[in-house]
Amino acid sequence: MTTLPPIRTGQARTAFGYVRPLADDVEIPFAIVEGAEPGPCLLVTAGVHGSEYCSIETALRLMKLEPEMLKGTLLVLPILNVQGFHKRSIYVMPQDGKNLNRMFPGDPEGTTSQRLAHWLTSSVYPLADAYIDLHGGDLDEGLAPFTIYPRACARSRALAEAFGLPVIVASGGAGYTLDSAFKLGIPGILPEVSGNGLWGEDTVGTMSAGVHRVMKHLGMIADAEPAPAEPMQVVTMWVPKAPVGGLWYPAKNLSEPVAEGEVVGEIRDVFGKVLASIRSEKAGFILYRLTSLAVNQDEALLGVGTALAE
Ligand SMILES: [Zn+2]
Repeated sequence: MTTLPPIRTGQARTAFGYVRPLADDVEIPFAIVEGAEPGPCLLVTAGVHGSEYCSIETALRLMKLEPEMLKGTLLVLPILNVQGFHKRSIYVMPQDGKNLNRMFPGDPEGTTSQRLAHWLTSSVYPLADAYIDLHGGDLDEGLAPFTIYPRACARSRALAEAFGLPVIVASGGAGYTLDSAFKLGIPGILPEVSGNGLWGEDTVGTMSAGVHRVMKHLGMIADAEPAPAEPMQVVTMWVPKAPVGGLWYPAKNLSEPVAEGEVVGEIRDVFGKVLASIRSEKAGFILYRLTSLAVNQDEALLGVGTALAE
């Protein structure tokens, strides 16, 4: 099929299968879990980055939710970048070498990732009342869990708070899944849990519990495990890019504080000569970092969480 089946039929059910929205042979799996009672539609996507396996396994488990315990509809697309998943790509869709999460709102006449972004924006996001785009630290990234939301959207921030990770990141960028949904009036969040493509019961459990808390917040389920009683921090993220290619030597661990002007890492050549020292523009703490020794020019090196001026 080239389009998703109806998301509301008035019957409690689980429908699943594959959709081929693009004029190619890539089949994207989906599941629709419709509850017995009416309620909102929550869209959950994963595998925008095909090797962020914690997010994908979390989405696959959500597809098994009992319809009888649900109000409204859960629409799950667990692996958007199917070829990237099988080929273990970092960030990009193998078909065109582009990062799907920079292609929104997409282009119906563009390359594969641009057409996929366009299909999501035009045919999938309008079905949803709320959106969770699960991510999980790609094969070359370590991170401490956080949830991104579009800064201008108070309803998205409420979803991020409900998800329950200790750090919330206000984002202002364009080209992303969340931004495209927000421009259609749909609140959304992008949780990041795990890293280096790893997945396990602990990280999938953390991510699944967050999704359940959002469903409770939306009135879709009666109960969810409460979030750990940690104070939440709301920050913005500063992301320096590599000014040159070489070998990357980070100087700070995940969650470690950094002062303004402090060196957060160096790029060296193979003989140890320092090609670039990266200094933090702001005081904050490390949200994520590149774990690969090899780095290419213009790649993101790390994210520093800095206090949000409200
Ligand atoms: Zn990602």
